[in-house]
Parts: sequence; C-alpha cells; structure tokens
Amino acid sequence: MLLHLYIMQEKNLLKNFKFVFIKLLLTAFLFSSQQQIFFWKIDTKEKVIFLTFDDGPHKVYTNEVLKILEEYKIKAVFFVLGELISGNDEVIRQLLQKGHCIGSHTYYHNNYYQLQKKYSIEVCKNLLEKELYETEKELKKIYKDIKIKYLRMPYGFYRVWMNEVLNKFDYKVINWTFGYDWYNVSEEEMFKRYCDALQPGAIFLFHDGGTEGARNKTLKVLKRFIEYCFQKGYKFGNIEEWIKK
Ligand SMILES: [Zn+2]
Repeated sequence: MLLHLYIMQEKNLLKNFKFVFIKLLLTAFLFSSQQQIFFWKIDTKEKVIFLTFDDGPHKVYTNEVLKILEEYKIKAVFFVLGELISGNDEVIRQLLQKGHCIGSHTYYHNNYYQLQKKYSIEVCKNLLEKELYETEKELKKIYKDIKIKYLRMPYGFYRVWMNEVLNKFDYKVINWTFGYDWYNVSEEEMFKRYCDALQPGAIFLFHDGGTEGARNKTLKVLKRFIEYCFQKGYKFGNIEEWIKK
C-alpha cells in the first residue's frame, strides 16, 4: 500500500523508469530492514506467556500484584502513568528492585483516537512526544539511569504516524493478546475468559491502577490464572528476553 502510494507520487514514472525502479528497490530494502516496532503477541510455539499491568503505580494494588508475582517468581511489565508517579516513588523503587520492567503508558492516559479526530496529526505527535518526555522525566527523578524501552498506548490505540515519535525515544509498542479485567463480570467469568485465551506467546493485560475496590477481583483472578497456567505446563517469560533488539 505504501509502496503503491509512493509510486503514484512519482510524476515522471513512465519517463524515468530505470530511476524509479532503483528507488523502489531501495524503499523495499529500507522497509524490510526496519525493526518490528509493534507487538500484540510473541511469535513462538513454546508454552510461554507474558504478564503486563496497566494504569499504575498504585500504593495498594501494585504492591498486592508484586506479592503475587514474587510468590510465583514471575517477572512482568508495568506500564505506568506519568501523572501517578510523583508520590508513588516507593512503588516504583519496589518494581525496579524486584526486577520487573517499567514501560510508559503516557502521562495523562489521553485518548488519541479522539484527539486524532479533533486535531492535526502534527498536534497529536507533539502532544504524544511531550507526554512520553514528561513520563520519563518523572521516572528519572526516582532512578536517573532508568531506560524505558516499551510503550503501551492508552486503549491500545496505535497508528503508524506514532512511529516517528517512537523512534525518537527508541520505544517499541506492546499491546496485548488478551485482557478482560475492566469488564463488570463475576470473578468466575473473568477467570474463565483469561483461561480460554491461553496460548503460546500470549501477552496478557491486567490492571494495577484504578479507584479503591476496583482491582480486588483482578487480584483474585490473577492468582488463580497463574496457577491454571502452571497446571497447563506454561511458564512466564520475561518479555525483554523475547523481543528482538
Ligand atoms: Zn490504561
């Protein structure tokens, strides 16, 4: 599609066929040599899955999740919101000390799907860049050498125009294969849905942020789901080791 558009833009296509052909080859080479920047699952047949948590840090829930992960010796990715970092320094320190990975979930949790409808792409790009910068700044106040590598966009909204910003920060986007803990369903139903989605390479989304009481069900389901996965012969991977550099 992109190549096609590119060709359409060439005014002298027929006149300068050889030149266009060389340009096409070059463009194809550039595209093929580009690194994968967007992930929603890991391509493997191995019985390995990945846990990710959004919308923290949270004084209560992040710590509860940490206890569960420690019990089962699992390393996860926590996609944190920039605006919640200040005042939760200790939670961030705990995440790092326990060997988990911190990713950015932007600063304000803006809905870029809506913003994109109202504003130009250029405005959206600038806002996203500012949000990522400010989030890193907050994290660096706690741990100045922190290197953020992954971004999860709010609502999983990703578009190609974001790549320019992602490249500036050297980020990759990690979406999810399955997540269900924000739906108002029974613990049983939630647990069953997660279990049904179990498959090699799946990236699971849970939340460690939210208002009081909001994540009690998540915590119960998380524990049960981890045990279910072990029973089925799955192990929990460290996503940093699975995403190619
Ligand atoms: Zn979120």
